[in-house]
Amino acid sequence: MRALSRLRLGAQTGGLPDLEVVNVPTPKPEPHQALIRVTACGFCHHDRSVMAGMLRRGVGPDVILGHEISGQVAETGSNVTGLKAGDQVVSILTDACGKCDRCASGREHRCREGQGIGHGRDGGFAEYVALSEHSLVKVPEGLDPVGAALLACPMGVSLQAVQGTARVVSGETVVVTGAGGGLGSHAVQAAAALGARVLAVTSSSGKENALRDLGAAEVLADSGLDFSELVMAMTEDEGADVVIDTVGSALFPSTLRSLAQFGRLVLLGEVLGQSLNLNPAEVIFRDAQILGASGVSRATVEQAGQMVLDGKLSPVVDLELPLDQASEAYRLVSERKPTGRIVLLPDGGRA
Ligand SMILES: [Zn+2]
Ligand SMILES: [Zn+2]
Repeated sequence: MRALSRLRLGAQTGGLPDLEVVNVPTPKPEPHQALIRVTACGFCHHDRSVMAGMLRRGVGPDVILGHEISGQVAETGSNVTGLKAGDQVVSILTDACGKCDRCASGREHRCREGQGIGHGRDGGFAEYVALSEHSLVKVPEGLDPVGAALLACPMGVSLQAVQGTARVVSGETVVVTGAGGGLGSHAVQAAAALGARVLAVTSSSGKENALRDLGAAEVLADSGLDFSELVMAMTEDEGADVVIDTVGSALFPSTLRSLAQFGRLVLLGEVLGQSLNLNPAEVIFRDAQILGASGVSRATVEQAGQMVLDGKLSPVVDLELPLDQASEAYRLVSERKPTGRIVLLPDGGRA
């Protein structure tokens, strides 16, 4: 089968990573696995960080990247009971065992045996991938199979952060940073769907209209002012109930300063990989909560699919590219150009 190699990383060659499409053996499904013919695989910032050599911990040698996988079941192992050939599926981000306490309690994304798909073990930048049936969710009928690639990451991840971690309720004010990106554009939609007033922070002024269409009440584009001052001005100096931060250290402490009393700051992304300088008093006297979130359970992926059918969420696909144009995806993501996601199509494009 054809797959994207990442044999030479950017950091080692000092420039763009060498993203070649190579021929590798098609995987054979183990008894608990299904072999998936990949329809589309989202190009995540995570993939970009691994390709750039910035993220190395836990990355398998010569692993095939890509964890935002939509595809069709081609073949099932002898122990698979929940799937059959022809089923349209989407993967969560972790290859789950289906047996441990976490899998048994609906937290398959934190499976004790689980390896990161497209990180510790092979992912979806390939024609085929073999995955445990416990990592797969059936895509409801009526959903676009390309857009379905985003149901887990970034849609489900954003939904889980907004709903599960931040516990946003109707009427609250929610700031989303990096709002034009993959996580951000879906966090805006998820918060708006829960009835929140969404203030979208973006460094790209060209994304303002798109963000309003996704449900942002206000768009805070680069104005020269610290965005926390704008948030204060727009909330009568109260601050926001919730900040969903997809950028991380680069925006700290503005994210914390944007919080109201009892506010919740959810850290969902870290672009630079740097440390923070935090004065604990700023957290203490706000009665603030700083929370981390990543990954997504199968139940939340199912919920995201239902919300798409109900018209409450919609996958934001900026561009579809064939697998052999992965370098173009890398360049665009590095320049933070896309609104939402770029997806790679191993078959070369839509029929
Ligand atoms: Zn992702
Ligand atoms: Zn498990």
